[in-house]
Amino acid sequence: MKVLVINCGSSSLKYQLIDSDTEIVLAKGLCERIGIDGALTHEPSGKGKFKSTPAMPDHKTAIGIVLEQLTDAEVGVIASLDEVGAVGHRIVHGGEKFTKSCIITDEVLKQVEECSVFAPLHNPAGLIGVRACKELMPNLQMVAVFDTAFHQTMPEKAYLYGIPRKYYDEDGIRRYGFHGTSHQFVSAETAKMLGKDVKDLNIIVCHLGNGASVTAVKGGESVDTSMGLTPLEGLIMGTRSGDLDPAIIEFIANKENKTASEVLNILNKESGVLGLSGGISSDFRDVKAAKAEGNKAASAALDAYAYRVAKYIGAYTVAMNGVDAIAFTAGLGENDDVTRVAICEYLGCIGATIDEQKNNVHGDAAVISTDDSKVTLLCIPTNEELMIARDTVALTK
Ligand code: ADP
Repeated sequence: MKVLVINCGSSSLKYQLIDSDTEIVLAKGLCERIGIDGALTHEPSGKGKFKSTPAMPDHKTAIGIVLEQLTDAEVGVIASLDEVGAVGHRIVHGGEKFTKSCIITDEVLKQVEECSVFAPLHNPAGLIGVRACKELMPNLQMVAVFDTAFHQTMPEKAYLYGIPRKYYDEDGIRRYGFHGTSHQFVSAETAKMLGKDVKDLNIIVCHLGNGASVTAVKGGESVDTSMGLTPLEGLIMGTRSGDLDPAIIEFIANKENKTASEVLNILNKESGVLGLSGGISSDFRDVKAAKAEGNKAASAALDAYAYRVAKYIGAYTVAMNGVDAIAFTAGLGENDDVTRVAICEYLGCIGATIDEQKNNVHGDAAVISTDDSKVTLLCIPTNEELMIARDTVALTK
């Protein structure tokens, strides 16, 4: 069966067409600047990369263009849309309602809409994508795969904030966690690499991309994760601050005469490594280059980043009463051997030792710890689209 995977952002849309029997990606691509002007990158497997700038006034037009590309005589990979068996959608926030992926019904759409209060930018974009696909492919079944679902196994002690109970009881304010699809995929792959059952392992997954989170996976279930009600909590990220004293919000608001949401915008978009480095970049490659040229703020930003990741690893080692494996994934986790070393320098106390030679790996799955390391360190490429395709097939077959 061929599955179309759609990941809608507010002005972008990523897609993959996956043959679920072989798990091969037949085509993938990215629509950007939706609602502004429109830019498309389409990559049919084995045929190269095609860039164009078709007008994309809205998501429905963008999805229409994607479907045309997939069935095009030259750059397409299927003869007609009849070959697509189902569509899988990434939905960011499923609240407490969604503990696993599900077939999209009108009731599901309503519930996802209710969760938009916690993800005001992401959930509406996901819903627009679902509705556009339903209009263009009315006979196909659609599946929703939630970023939060994997973390619904967290115990109360891990998800409650230390604030008056009524905010949880009445408003659902608690820690939800994100990147669940990635953490689930990578923990399962880690177990496979170790030749063990995931049920017998304590694994810490470090998803280090532009957004970043760490999850404690005990026996295949998330028992704690660093992101919270929103993706702002936890690690220092590309542009997000991660954990901080909430009193800072009032301080900046008063000092700069800003509203709470303006300050939150600073914490989400102007902070993290970008902010700490004095505005150099949110991309670690640029910040590392600045450090190499002697920029002190860049150096401090990278130090703070690695230190925060290591602190979470320490916390989750305690939370699980020990750790068998630590897996690094996503853009930075998979590719940046230097940052992996910087993080692992703190881990001697738990018996984890990185092997500098094995660590020379970029984008491939590999064990990167020494043979005598008590904790196995690994690089595991994540594949959220494949997870979405697998769930979609499982629910629609
Ligand atoms: P997201 O999906 O959250 O947008 P990715 O997982 O694609 O992010 O990660 C993107 C980030 O990974 C980049 O911003 C960059 O900081 C980092 N990255 C990618 N490749 C490298 C590399 N070779 N060295 C250092 N950092 C890298």
